[in-house]
Amino acid sequence: MVDPYKSLYSSSGIKEIDLRKEMKNLLDGSRVEIAKGRVGLLRKMRRDSDGNLITCPCRDKITNEPDRDYFCQYCRGHGFYWDEHVINYFQDDTMYSREPGQNKEYDKAYFYIEHNVDITDDDYLIILKTDADGDVVSPKQRQKFFKVFSADAFRSDFGRIEYWRVRASEERRWSVWYAENR
Ligand SMILES: [Zn+2]
Repeated sequence: MVDPYKSLYSSSGIKEIDLRKEMKNLLDGSRVEIAKGRVGLLRKMRRDSDGNLITCPCRDKITNEPDRDYFCQYCRGHGFYWDEHVINYFQDDTMYSREPGQNKEYDKAYFYIEHNVDITDDDYLIILKTDADGDVVSPKQRQKFFKVFSADAFRSDFGRIEYWRVRASEERRWSVWYAENR
């Protein structure tokens, strides 16, 4: 039996659950569910026409290391150029895990985002600090950085991208040298 609250879409006369709509309901809420999405930032790494990351001039000519001592204002220590976009995401807390027996340097998490977000491996998801009501504080404070290591598109039987499931690792070392609002 079809759940009357589920959205359907059809192609060639065959109906299936509209997971784009379901994802939007999960993030933004609907008449039968509360919004579970959070506002965050996607730090999208810039790429050249060959798909390679674009190197910032602050990288040392000999060691090829980005300049972290003087906190490059263009790349903020990545050593590559990037742009930031506001996105809505759902973080699956139940999947939050640590590597067993490891030195707790990385925490891994799953994120779910809408089909129309352009996300690739090596981009970063940034969690913003929120107040007691769950609203993002102003000005924005970047609280956690997650580096994407796998952005997987989930497709319908018709091949349409329905949503993205993103696996990412928290970059703990960031807090050591990432100065806020600079
Ligand atoms: Zn730089």
